[in-house]
Amino acid sequence: MKHGSAAAKVEVTPRPKLRGKSAIVTGSTSGIGLAIARAFAAQGMNVLINGLGDQTQVKRTRTAIEKEFGVNTGYSGADMSKADEIAAMVERAHSMFQKVDVLVNNAGIQHVAPIETFPAEKWDAIIAVNLSAAFHAMRAVVPEMKKRRWGRIINIASAHALVASPFKSAYVASKHGILGLTRVVALETAEHGITVNAICPGYVLTPLVEKQIPETAKARGISEEEVVRDVLLHAQPTHQFVTAEQIGALAVFLCGDSGAQITGAAIPIEGGWTAQ
Ligand code: NAD
Repeated sequence: MKHGSAAAKVEVTPRPKLRGKSAIVTGSTSGIGLAIARAFAAQGMNVLINGLGDQTQVKRTRTAIEKEFGVNTGYSGADMSKADEIAAMVERAHSMFQKVDVLVNNAGIQHVAPIETFPAEKWDAIIAVNLSAAFHAMRAVVPEMKKRRWGRIINIASAHALVASPFKSAYVASKHGILGLTRVVALETAEHGITVNAICPGYVLTPLVEKQIPETAKARGISEEEVVRDVLLHAQPTHQFVTAEQIGALAVFLCGDSGAQITGAAIPIEGGWTAQ
């Protein structure tokens, strides 16, 4: 073919559109999970909402998403600390949407206390919700994703998957753990059109962080204002909170075709925290 010929054709790989894909976002009745669910819905994706909370509020959230973006939503009240309820949530998504294209393991809890007084039942709960839940959900969605040769799994880890802070033994252990789990499942699924990544946010002003401000003040013996200025925002060189919407946009990017070669990655979105 002559150089510059009008007949020259560029091979373009068709872009898989996200419209019509379906996602489970755990812990999406609040905070980061809700922002991710909304960001997916804005792309035309159907979303199964999960999380605790007042049922009237959950209904309101779903109606708002459906009206604003013209997608279908479902809801599962599955408790992420219970393996059988996680399996039922995945089954529910399969029966509602016929497939689960995207799984976001986002539900998470926190407790701040020194190791010697850290309640053992808080340790168990944090490991169950922040780490074991992702194991149970991934093992339930991966077989179908493999059959369809397409899937996106996003684990909402934390900057605390990469670095530690005092008084957060269970949380930091769970987040380091989920990064290891992310890498393992990414390797196991890499040849099946599935990507598995960990988003590692810095501080986002959600109910989870609002609750730990007084706990951290107590553990460190400082005021709540000092916690925000000298602990939370001090960790981030930008001295600004990350927004839940910024994390939603990153999740959308990972689901799109541009994210197809990103797998097994820990992606920081933390104002430069872990660059220090
Ligand atoms: P949030 O408290 O606003 O939301 C947590 C969500 O998880 C809620 O929907 C809640 O109902 C749900 N949840 C809690 N326990 C559950 C259970 N047993 N079963 C089912 N759902 C349950 O918190 P967030 O800040 O939006 O946190 C979301 C994720 O982001 C967590 O994994 C958290 O560790 C991570 N994260 C948050 C920050 C931050 O600064 N906010 C930073 C890094 C990582």
